[in-house]
Amino acid sequence: MHELSLCEAIAGVAKTHADGRHVDVVRVRIGALRQVVPESLAFCWTLVRDAEDLPDAALELECVTAEVRCRACGQLSEVTSAWSIWCPRCDSSDVEVVRGNEFLVTSLDIS
Ligand SMILES: [Zn+2]
Repeated sequence: MHELSLCEAIAGVAKTHADGRHVDVVRVRIGALRQVVPESLAFCWTLVRDAEDLPDAALELECVTAEVRCRACGQLSEVTSAWSIWCPRCDSSDVEVVRGNEFLVTSLDIS
């Protein structure tokens, strides 16, 4: 499962930074092109945090919309579906992803 492996990656980063201390909150930024279902990620997190010895670490998600720049006409536009990426101005599919592939742990609350 996609979300499960993402949660394992999140837990790995959190544990490395916590270095044995207690983790209260893990904040993660995820771009729209990652195709993550937030509910599914939250559910997988409850499984992973127990297995990874982070028993009550809360997961906070920050979802980032995707944006592409058209190589044909230079138009910057927001992408709503990861399956159909093209320029709404000139219909070119030759676009460059500017934003939307993010997947990173932005901060931790440690006590
Ligand atoms: Zn264009």
